Amino acid sequence: MSDIEEIEVRGGQGQVLDPETYRDSIGTMDQSGKRKWVYPRKPKGKYTNYRYLVSCILLLIYFSVPFIKINGNPMLLFNVIDREFFIFGQPFYPQDFFILTLGAIASLIFIIVFTIAFGRIFCGWICPQTIFLEMIFRKIEYAIEGDRNRQMKLDRQEWNTEKIWKRGLKWTIYLVISLIITHFMFMYVVGYKEVFRIVSEGPFANPTNFIVMILLTAAFYFVFAWFREQVCTLVCPYGRLQGVLIDKDTVNVFYDFKRGENRAKWRKGEDRKAAGKGDCIDCHQCVVVCPTGIDIRDGQQLECVNCTACIDACDEVMEKVGLPKGLIRYATENEIEKETKFKFTGRMKGFALILVLLTGFLGYLLYNRGEMEAKFIKPAGSTFFVRDGKITNTYNYTFLNKTNDKKIVTIRVIEPKHGEVIYSASSKITVERDKITKGTVNISFPENEMNLSKQNITIGVYDMKGNLVDSYETYFEGPFKLQF
Ligand code: SF4
Ligand code: SF4
Repeated sequence: MSDIEEIEVRGGQGQVLDPETYRDSIGTMDQSGKRKWVYPRKPKGKYTNYRYLVSCILLLIYFSVPFIKINGNPMLLFNVIDREFFIFGQPFYPQDFFILTLGAIASLIFIIVFTIAFGRIFCGWICPQTIFLEMIFRKIEYAIEGDRNRQMKLDRQEWNTEKIWKRGLKWTIYLVISLIITHFMFMYVVGYKEVFRIVSEGPFANPTNFIVMILLTAAFYFVFAWFREQVCTLVCPYGRLQGVLIDKDTVNVFYDFKRGENRAKWRKGEDRKAAGKGDCIDCHQCVVVCPTGIDIRDGQQLECVNCTACIDACDEVMEKVGLPKGLIRYATENEIEKETKFKFTGRMKGFALILVLLTGFLGYLLYNRGEMEAKFIKPAGSTFFVRDGKITNTYNYTFLNKTNDKKIVTIRVIEPKHGEVIYSASSKITVERDKITKGTVNISFPENEMNLSKQNITIGVYDMKGNLVDSYETYFEGPFKLQF
């Protein structure tokens, strides 16, 4: 049994619990399953400042990206309605979805490798749920209702004038922010101009958009005003994956139980070592600051989102009592238990190798992604006609220009030889950037070249420098011929 398992008092409640109890229950629920509201103390310290800086940068990115254009294209757009997709200004089409799927798989492997090595750092530092909740909504709450104790007092008190106006103001601001977040989210789907248009025309002109907007706003409001940390502890699938991804070599926020135990209250001037006491002075500052309502001293728990608030709280306490900081810190379990250094395990190396291979393959596909996609389809019900010793078929063409420049192209038959292209207008076809161009051409072959009634042909699309930009294999019909 390790040292930490011998500690029986949980969360400063004074109750003697089974050492494994915290693994069977959620910190934010009582035994009857009723929600225990968390009133985390306002965190402050080195890590909180760094997180604040990272959050400001990420929020700036979130609110500015819809307005950024690259080569005249939106930087990011996921217009599932019109099937228009832009990533870093590069247009992607449903035809390119295998690249996006591979990209999604590579991202998933990256997340797995990252989680195996660094645990839930993503949750505490980058996850939008944490950033919006801790850096926007919670800050408003602190500003209006005060810190932990004042919030608890306000919650307990009657609905008097103070409570009504404070709660009313907080909920109104929450609603406005939820609306803003929803509108910006919409910009990632339909573009900012479209959102401005919808807003300027009003809800009656766009009832469907209006209803979707209201539903999303309500969802954000519900999550940030009430559901809060339960997204991380009950809903988020990434949180559930931790159990299988992390091991004793994963970096996480850890309490150094070797140094901290036996925990005991602080007595001025006491020689704690001589008294057999650890460095933890059992002040519960790490508990009251936790936004998921857990006691990190119980060990690694699924509710911990690695937000670092307990590190800052404990460091502040250690500083005050003149003990070394880092009783709670980023570390691996082995680092604390066996006092070994962080190392890359075989599992991490294996996943990292897969990630490198996948990223290389993805880069290759992106680099070789065609500039143009051409299709030649025979119109429904069309057949061939024979005139002056030539057989002619009609094709409807569709050109998709995936580049940021206008292209002028021409069509030639690659296989079999001697095919002739007859244009209805000019042989130079203009294909606007990021647009689909449609038209019709006739293709004919000398009668004696076509030996089969249905023969495969390859049609090429060339730019004005004679470079092949895409080719398409289709079939050519002719009169039935007896084969001997
Ligand atoms: S235990 Fe510490 S790091 Fe984990 S969620 Fe609570 S305060 Fe954040
Ligand atoms: S803040 Fe530090 S000293 Fe205080 S209870 Fe938590 S671990 Fe112990």
